[in-house]
Amino acid sequence: MFKSILLLILISVLSSCNNKKIDFAIVVHGGAGTITKASMSNEMELAYNQKLEEAINTGYKILEKGGTSLDAVESTIKILENSELFNAGKGSVLSNEEIVEMDASIMNGNNLNAGAISGVRTIKNPISAARLVMEKSDHVFLSGIGAESFAKSKGLEIVNNEYFITQRRLNSLLNAKKRDTLNDNKFGTVGCVALDKLGNIASGTSTGGMTNKKWNRIGDVPIIGAGTYANNNTCGISSTGWGEFFIRNVVAYDISSQIEYKNLSIDIAAKNTLNKVKNLGGSGGIVGIDKYGNIVMDFNTDGMYRALKKSDGSFDIKIYR
Ligand code: ASP
Repeated sequence: MFKSILLLILISVLSSCNNKKIDFAIVVHGGAGTITKASMSNEMELAYNQKLEEAINTGYKILEKGGTSLDAVESTIKILENSELFNAGKGSVLSNEEIVEMDASIMNGNNLNAGAISGVRTIKNPISAARLVMEKSDHVFLSGIGAESFAKSKGLEIVNNEYFITQRRLNSLLNAKKRDTLNDNKFGTVGCVALDKLGNIASGTSTGGMTNKKWNRIGDVPIIGAGTYANNNTCGISSTGWGEFFIRNVVAYDISSQIEYKNLSIDIAAKNTLNKVKNLGGSGGIVGIDKYGNIVMDFNTDGMYRALKKSDGSFDIKIYR
């Protein structure tokens, strides 16, 4: 009897250690896809690592000072949007008409409030526009010219479409046109999830979509539940990958709901969902944080630009599998 009571105490202590809530944490991705060591120059690898480090440190410092997870997510994503390296903001991929059209979304896990914009061509930082939709409009999702006038009316920086266009993306478009394809298996979307000291989770994602897209195609990124989801009772998730498959699998919400209804760990839930994406023929990855501060960075591609940092001292930046 005494032995079994001891055993029970031991089990509950161990499981509470497992679920020990860490103070705060942040995770970021810069897209998944055919990213291999063989296809990457040392200079490019260094540039990606440095930018990921700068981005995650920016968000981490905000959390460390007691700032909100929403501020951390927005500021981190802005750094990646302003860098030409990633498929978001400056350096976004080009549509069939050689235009940059961007999508972004953000969600507050504390009150399930969310904001998204799609098909915008002139907003320098789409993630900030998504946040303004969430906080300063009666809506969740604005698109195109309307989203742009809204952003302008709220004082966001507006730039010409040329600002976003780079030679690297022009070359990719020419290649994609030659092969008449939409999917080049390189998804450079950016995303971030943060858990702040108050236990609030926020998540955001920003993208230029897919190279050679036509007909104002919109991917998973601005769709709440597919590209982005956050709920303080479960987790926050940001996706990257072949958007059509992420929409059909409602990826971010699917992971959250497995935690909510089946009490699964974030790792297992993410694996299950990414398997569903793969079984339908899609590919990509996700990053996420659960309410205990456990972080997941999972993908079914060769690589994913990714970084994490937690208040317990853990810190990691990786590109390849
Ligand atoms: N998910 C994005 C889209 O389909 C692409 C990406 O992740 O890079 O628009």
